[in-house]
Amino acid sequence: MTILHVSAECYPAAKVGGMGDVVGALPKYLNARGATAMVVMPWYQNEFFTTHSFETVYSGRFRMHATHSYQVLRLQNSKLGFDLHAVRIPGLLEQPDPYGYDNDADRFIAFQTAVAGWLNTWKTLPDVVHCHDHHTGLLPFFFAHAFAFNRLMHLPTVFTVHNGSYQGWINWEKDYLLPAYDHQHRGLLEWSHAINSLAAAIKCCWRFTTVSPSYLEELWNEPVLGKLFRDEAAKGQGILNGIDDEVWNPQTDPLLKARYDEESVAEGKRINKEYVCGQFQLSADKPLVVFIGRLVAEKGADLLADSFYRMTRETDGGFSFLVLGSGLPDQERGLRELHAALPGQFNCYIGYNEALSHLLYGAADFLLMPSRTEPCGLNQLYALRYGTIPIVRSVGGLKDTVIDFGDPGGFGIRFEQPSVDDICHSLRRARQLYAQTARLEALRPYMMKFDHSWNEAAGNYLALYRTLGGI
Ligand code: ADP
Repeated sequence: MTILHVSAECYPAAKVGGMGDVVGALPKYLNARGATAMVVMPWYQNEFFTTHSFETVYSGRFRMHATHSYQVLRLQNSKLGFDLHAVRIPGLLEQPDPYGYDNDADRFIAFQTAVAGWLNTWKTLPDVVHCHDHHTGLLPFFFAHAFAFNRLMHLPTVFTVHNGSYQGWINWEKDYLLPAYDHQHRGLLEWSHAINSLAAAIKCCWRFTTVSPSYLEELWNEPVLGKLFRDEAAKGQGILNGIDDEVWNPQTDPLLKARYDEESVAEGKRINKEYVCGQFQLSADKPLVVFIGRLVAEKGADLLADSFYRMTRETDGGFSFLVLGSGLPDQERGLRELHAALPGQFNCYIGYNEALSHLLYGAADFLLMPSRTEPCGLNQLYALRYGTIPIVRSVGGLKDTVIDFGDPGGFGIRFEQPSVDDICHSLRRARQLYAQTARLEALRPYMMKFDHSWNEAAGNYLALYRTLGGI
């Protein structure tokens, strides 16, 4: 079975969040189960693409306002466990980062048009095209209704919603940029008087998945597309993400100061914690609570500074708090100010730092995730693998993967509301747990033994692909 994944991100070539991790791991695990899975993504002007060798496997052209030439490149000697292809469109899709440019809509229309054009030339088509998030959401529509891609009309498509809050709105004025299509199907692109790439994907794909079962149901109440998700529920399925345990393994992780397994976790963590606390001028004698992630409201980042301030005052400096993240300028400024107010008790690294994230999972006692929405969340899964107790809001994938330590079989800390009060209450509980050394030390190896690898999820995806007929 041949599966082509189409995505804006794929670790290690480009990653902004969890989707990059997923697309960088799932194909490898599908291949381990006998499938032929590969990835196509945009070519970005970043370190990965400029330092690796690629061969050109296809050169094409398409018309989008002007005529654009493009190449599809394949990574030579791939050690990723799958073939990685990149679409290079000079002058349009070559920026260093995946997103954040004024012409993002044009860039991703171009990417999808180029991918469809390339696929159109394949001698034998793949059995499934698996699209990820709204940047690839127009492809199922293109296959079904664009004149030029007639041959792809019956190509089975799976679409995964990694984050339904980002929907790829495109003003109808840009309709002329899309490959020519039969306008009686215009309604498939439309939502609230604009083109909505996510809506088009859900309407046109053969099946869609969400990255956790709880998130599938939460999308029924999504403010804009809730009705659509309810109407199309029959073709939806929640499949929980896995983690790549070749990359995320405290026994082999080269980015840790001290590597450890279930037996040596207490000692390994102590060394990593002392190192991290030394680097960030924090005390290693207190519970180390970290936050890693995008500094946006979705992640509850706006609640961090007040919660940390309040708990530091309440406990007379009873915690060491550390944040690794980047995002909204307001949030970044608020955290820098907090560091100035609480030196020695709170510190932050504002920016993206993959190596530091590994070290923090290895060093922290607790990982805080006060998310307002969390489609799956990988951080808590990494935390479990590294013996770090997750403190999470009961939402989405967090609800599906963390059991409160007060409940049977529990190991983490859960709270209901994304509020400073609830976070502070959870931090008090964390402090009590930290004081019970024997209990804490029993929980760590217990959590590390859970199997959250991709094996099970890859099996679920294969089962889904097989339902698409002809395979
Ligand atoms: P999302 O995709 O919504 O951002 P996930 O929990 O699914 O959230 O995935 C986040 C991924 O990005 C994790 O691998 C996490 O470690 C990583 N990450 C987020 N922010 C940073 C950062 N500033 N530095 C390093 N890694 C980060």
